[in-house]
Amino acid sequence: MTIDAERATPVPGAAYFRKPQESILADNDAIEGTVKQILADVRRDGDAAVRAYSAKFDNVELDAIEVSQEQIRAALDNLDPAMREDTLFAIEQVRNFAEKQLATMLPLEVETLPGLTLGHRVIPIERIGAYVPGGRYPLMSAPIMTIVPAKVAGCDEVIACLPPSAHEAMIAGCHLSGADRIFLIGGAQAIAAMAYGTESVPRVDKIVGPGNAYVNEAKRQVFGPVGIDQLAGPSEVFVIADDTAAADMVAIDLLAQAEHDVRARVGLITTSPALAEAVEAEVARLLAELETSAVAAESWQRFGEIVLCDDVDAMIAYSDLVAPEHLEVITADSDAVAAKLRNYGSLFIGANASVVYSDKCCGTNHTLPTAGAGRYSGGLWVGAFVKVCTHQRLTTEAVAEVAPHAVRQSLYEGMEAHARAADYRLVAAGLGSKIT
Ligand code: NAD
Repeated sequence: MTIDAERATPVPGAAYFRKPQESILADNDAIEGTVKQILADVRRDGDAAVRAYSAKFDNVELDAIEVSQEQIRAALDNLDPAMREDTLFAIEQVRNFAEKQLATMLPLEVETLPGLTLGHRVIPIERIGAYVPGGRYPLMSAPIMTIVPAKVAGCDEVIACLPPSAHEAMIAGCHLSGADRIFLIGGAQAIAAMAYGTESVPRVDKIVGPGNAYVNEAKRQVFGPVGIDQLAGPSEVFVIADDTAAADMVAIDLLAQAEHDVRARVGLITTSPALAEAVEAEVARLLAELETSAVAAESWQRFGEIVLCDDVDAMIAYSDLVAPEHLEVITADSDAVAAKLRNYGSLFIGANASVVYSDKCCGTNHTLPTAGAGRYSGGLWVGAFVKVCTHQRLTTEAVAEVAPHAVRQSLYEGMEAHARAADYRLVAAGLGSKIT
């Protein structure tokens, strides 16, 4: 394929059929400054700053920031029975998979030299702060994805923060998922409250969960004194498809993520010009009838893309460059293509595997890396709620083997106390000093 400069992508053999108008990273500077101010204010003024920002961004004047037992009971009573059933189904699937994953994280103890025992233990993190997004939609699956695996991991306490404007059903969702305490705080002010602690909100050890650009920027800025899972921002889906894929199915899967957020990023990567054309037409047709088209259309307009590739290898290379949060593969041999992919948050193999199943209830976690973070991170999972911490034990025989190396290495580095500490055990065991 000959590609003019306007249509060129960084990947040889891959050209834009439809080029995105904007990069998702474009206006991060403004968000960075806003968030910095919010964090500083909450750190200094605690609950008062949280209340002020809730009034500013969520239009609510809060009496109590924490959800009371009466509010939880009311939320449970008011929960639509079918929604309750769906929520319990999703909780069970997420718990099942998290339990199976945790079972793979085994403690270890091995003798690597005579008398030298090395090992690790898998230790749950004490207190987790789960951010539960809910600004635009009542995302019922959101509390499940962050709270249930923390409970499976054995964390002592899980507190949940959700925007005060969130649907009441979300409070029920947090409770059914196992949250110990629930707070009505959204956005960067919620991340600040959990990171630093306020009069009402306890300081946590690790903050997890997805959210909009403000939430993610806040997580990035508080990291250090508090842990974070990964940056899980506005949703993304890319579909790798050939001419075996149905255009209307691809189009609705793209729009299912585009309707999340005006900053959602969706794209088709294909070897088929006919599919590229048909998907673009289907998207336009569906946007005219979707109730959520105001959001989805803006996302598609600004960030939507279609990339035409010479062959499967170019599709894989382009997809690995993007490292999309969700990646669907709908090709003649989806398994073979899937096996070659490297950078993604979660992979959906074959035409039946719609992203929506994972988003809602099939059991994999929907909290996934965005904005290229799939290059270095997978999604949220039960392993993010534990620490794998090593330990060691040495017999005299092991000291005799290890200490001379440690003494010599320390002396070479000019670290005298290190050398003496290593040598002490040799002398104490009657093996003689190695410090000359
Ligand atoms: P949200 O809970 O993330 O954010 C709502 C909060 O944003 C509000 O409470 C408000 O305090 C704050 N806010 C709004 N406008 C602001 C402004 N101008 N300045 C400062 N703060 C402001 O809910 P949302 O906005 O609906 O976004 C949810 C996001 O989560 C979407 O982008 C969705 O795509 C994403 N998501 C991602 C994943 C993932 O795994 N990556 C999963 C689910 C949802």
